[in-house]
Amino acid sequence: MGHIAALALVLSSALLVLTSLLAPYVVSKTGVLIAGGVSLAAGIIAWWVPWDRMGRWSVLVMIPIAFVAVDLTYVFAARNAFTYSVAFVLIFALVGLGLPQWTAVRLAPLLVAAYVVPLVVLPGRLSDIGLGSAVFVLPVCILLGEAIAWGMHRYALAEQEIADGVASVHLLFEQAPIGISKLGLDGRLLEVNQAYGEILGYAPSDLVGRLMRDFTHPDDQDENQALIARLLSGELDRFNFEKRCLHADGHIVWVSVNGSIARNPSGAPLFMIGQIEDITEARALRDQLALTAVTDPLTGLPNRMVFMEHLGRALEQAESNGRHVALLFLDIDRFKLVNDGIGHDAGDRLLVHVGHRLQGAIRHGDFLARFGGDEFTLFCEVTDEDDVVEIVGRLRRTMARPVTEVDFEQFVSLSIGIAVSTSQSMLPSMLLRGADIAMYQAKRAGPGRSMVFDHDHGDDVGRNLRTSNDLHRAIQESQLVLHYQPFVDIDRRRLLGTEALVRWQHPTRGLLPPSEFIDLAEECGMMGELGSWVLREACRQGAAWASTRDASEVRIEVPPMSVNISPKQLADPGFVDLVAMVLDETGFPAERLWLEITEGALLADPMVAIAVMGSIRELGVHLAIDDFGTGYSSLSYLKRMPVEALKIDRSFVEHIETAEEDQAIVESIVALGRALGIEVVAEGIEHPGQAIELAARGCRLAQGFLYGRPIDPTAIGPQLPRSISGWDASGQLTPV
Ligand code: C2E
Ligand code: CA
Ligand code: CA
Repeated sequence: MGHIAALALVLSSALLVLTSLLAPYVVSKTGVLIAGGVSLAAGIIAWWVPWDRMGRWSVLVMIPIAFVAVDLTYVFAARNAFTYSVAFVLIFALVGLGLPQWTAVRLAPLLVAAYVVPLVVLPGRLSDIGLGSAVFVLPVCILLGEAIAWGMHRYALAEQEIADGVASVHLLFEQAPIGISKLGLDGRLLEVNQAYGEILGYAPSDLVGRLMRDFTHPDDQDENQALIARLLSGELDRFNFEKRCLHADGHIVWVSVNGSIARNPSGAPLFMIGQIEDITEARALRDQLALTAVTDPLTGLPNRMVFMEHLGRALEQAESNGRHVALLFLDIDRFKLVNDGIGHDAGDRLLVHVGHRLQGAIRHGDFLARFGGDEFTLFCEVTDEDDVVEIVGRLRRTMARPVTEVDFEQFVSLSIGIAVSTSQSMLPSMLLRGADIAMYQAKRAGPGRSMVFDHDHGDDVGRNLRTSNDLHRAIQESQLVLHYQPFVDIDRRRLLGTEALVRWQHPTRGLLPPSEFIDLAEECGMMGELGSWVLREACRQGAAWASTRDASEVRIEVPPMSVNISPKQLADPGFVDLVAMVLDETGFPAERLWLEITEGALLADPMVAIAVMGSIRELGVHLAIDDFGTGYSSLSYLKRMPVEALKIDRSFVEHIETAEEDQAIVESIVALGRALGIEVVAEGIEHPGQAIELAARGCRLAQGFLYGRPIDPTAIGPQLPRSISGWDASGQLTPV
């Protein structure tokens, strides 16, 4: 605004000087020249003064100077009324051009003073102008000044809008999170934004002027050029593809490119627009996913899906060249126990070791996979059975050494089921099923066994195959039943209580003993489900027996109930709560419940076992160690365990009449019990002779077929007999 005022000063003084000099008479030419020259000089100097920084002051200073200049010029010059008026109008027009709206109005008093004062002060000299002219000239000055200021304001607003729009488009381009570039038709980068530069590792200015091709991986250039050619020819409107770019520091960046073209209204191409997005990580993830779809993440071995695919192909090939495919199903023995013993993390590392060892033991062309859990599968082409024997031998040898890690050392044995393809049209699933069945047979025979599937008897075996699904259904559909076996005092044959023993009333195979499915339940992780059913049912039955009354209406005392607990259950952190809940639900008194825990179970982690046993005792429930003598209990732990009974394993009772060793063992167990204040119960007594021998060695409590077999509660009836004399009288002995 200072510039405009300076301009006003220069123009108005120049105008007056010129017109006055050209006029026919002048008061003082020198006066005109001096006044005009001074105001002209003031205007020129004013141009360089930083008025903008002075704001409104510039107006207040410049406008009076302009008026003084005009007035003086008028005084010394021709007093040309026309020029005088025009000069005022001109000044105000320039005020309107340079200053905010309403400035002309606000300057009205100054205007009036500047115009009127010379006319009043020098009336005699006035030739052709009167005061009355002020009435016309001054409003014109103000109106024109304001009209121009208004117009200028509108214009400035419009300009600002355009500038804002341009700035925001520029900002959008600059700061877009995806890389955007404008390319010439020759593929040269004309403009790139910040993100574009960042993706390629350059400052945007370093990229401008270079060919896009220079940053494209050589292997992707042909495809890129072909797409650009189709874009230019109009065949494509846009394209998208993924390519590799070369980053400034040399590494490869995967980008997703969207290319399009800008054309003028007549369709001629103007420039290309390239938009890129860094997808390096996304691609790595995608590749990783593709890989995990085919490999087992823990061991890095192929997974089940890939195994089955390859097996299918191998079977087809073997068929065409007259050879056989042997499929080996390998399962780590007691892996669940190992896993619980050493911890899941170590269990995982163990699996990795096993995978590596097996991988190292197979031949080129054999295919090993982790099938799931602790199961591995392997197939190989074989010519005869000797080949299979050789392979199994190799696998066993590789597992002969223990797996050693910083925190554990573990021998690993494998149960191996083998199926060899026979008929021409054997399906992968059939071969797998055969190997699976054989593996279960091997498992049943004991740890570290191998079994070959016999296709001729396959169906029989298949029928016997107990899958975890079956067992799950058994629990759901109440196919499980409990049978009860008495335990007695050896001399008086009085019934002291019963032990609940689970059986599976299988829909097709009949009544199955626990040896047929307890291990399976353990391995399938269903022991918790099965065990809590047993506990609940036993307590329910015990409470039912207790609620009956005898002939004289005396309420029958609740007989003790013994329930077997698996190691899995004991290790479950929720186990104590479960016991408390079941007692609460069934109303069975805690002090009548005994839990039998096998000796082996206590050894995995004796400290934890001792803690859990303590909590169980706090509920009032009693504890017994089952199968005592088979698990090498440490005496120091035994002393600290809150147990109240030891059950001598049947193996020591069986030959007690003749085997002096067994006699000695029983004697020492009884002595141990006495020393620790623990009851001793002998299991598996079948003959009176055994009972006599046991009694002679101080054993007072007994259990066995001699006193009563485990029987169905319906055979026992609504009341539990007081003496076992009534036990076998039911005549309904269960097959064991
Ligand atoms: P256990 O706890 O030692 O149970 C005693 C087993 O010996 C029972 O076999 C019983 O029928 C059998 N038995 C009893 N007296 C004699 C005898 O005089 N001679 C012979 N030869 N055998 C006798 P069963 O019912 O087959 O149970 C086998 C094992 O299964 C049990 O051994 C126990 O460890 C386990 N088991 C049974 N029920 C359950 C259960 O509900 N939960 C858990 N975790 N384990 C159970
Ligand atoms: Ca038992
Ligand atoms: Ca036992």
